[in-house]
Amino acid sequence: MIDSHCHLADDGFEADLEAVVARAKDAGLTGALVILSAGDEVEAARARKVREAWPAVRFATGVHPHNAGAFATEPQDAAAASARYAQAWGACAIGEIGLDYHYDFAPRDVQRDVFASQLALAKQIGRPVIIHTREATDDTFEILSEAGGAAGVFHCFTGDAAMARRALDIGFYVSFSGIVTFPSAESIRDAARLVPDDRLLVETDSPYLAPVPFRGKRNEPAHVARVVEAVAAVRGVPAAHIAEQTSLNVDALFGPC
Ligand SMILES: [Zn+2]
Ligand SMILES: [Zn+2]
Repeated sequence: MIDSHCHLADDGFEADLEAVVARAKDAGLTGALVILSAGDEVEAARARKVREAWPAVRFATGVHPHNAGAFATEPQDAAAASARYAQAWGACAIGEIGLDYHYDFAPRDVQRDVFASQLALAKQIGRPVIIHTREATDDTFEILSEAGGAAGVFHCFTGDAAMARRALDIGFYVSFSGIVTFPSAESIRDAARLVPDDRLLVETDSPYLAPVPFRGKRNEPAHVARVVEAVAAVRGVPAAHIAEQTSLNVDALFGPC
């Protein structure tokens, strides 16, 4: 099993990182993709400890839409920051990047420019992207279409079956988080039913979004097992099948890095 998206260098893991990693291994995880916020030197210092504690982790880096405001005058600088971090960390993807119109922490036009600049970078360096999109579906697909040729994943998928089809139609993977275990998430489970085996990923997005029965507590990579079980249940297949298939998909999408 691989957790395809977690923030293990978050300060929420600083106090007990070794125990978190031990529980992940005990749960059957062979690795995790750790998301780093490009340019965040404080997080990078913690990420060095993550790499020591768990050498099997891989990294992805990008400027999150929440942080796009810092690049309002020079969106290209966001791509430059991502490029620098991608190089330093041997990143296997650019992300998470995208649009968040729910929180609107940065002006939408700035979010769009920062997103587009990083898509151009990903294309230039031949890396897939990890998309964060919230209440911004049409703009996200439009910018992806304008960028052309992007490959990647819609992380922490919260759309419905129709949106999953749109993602699949442009060749993207779809990654499900602990939200798939929430009682109210019927439309997300519909999406989890229709994504083909070879486009399916699972993640925790920890420390956020703990699945049932840990909802409201700090999330951690070991809990990706609950996501695997939930996705397997809606698809009517054994959890072991989803664990193996999603691990293969991580390698297929992100490659060795
Ligand atoms: Zn996200
Ligand atoms: Zn995330």
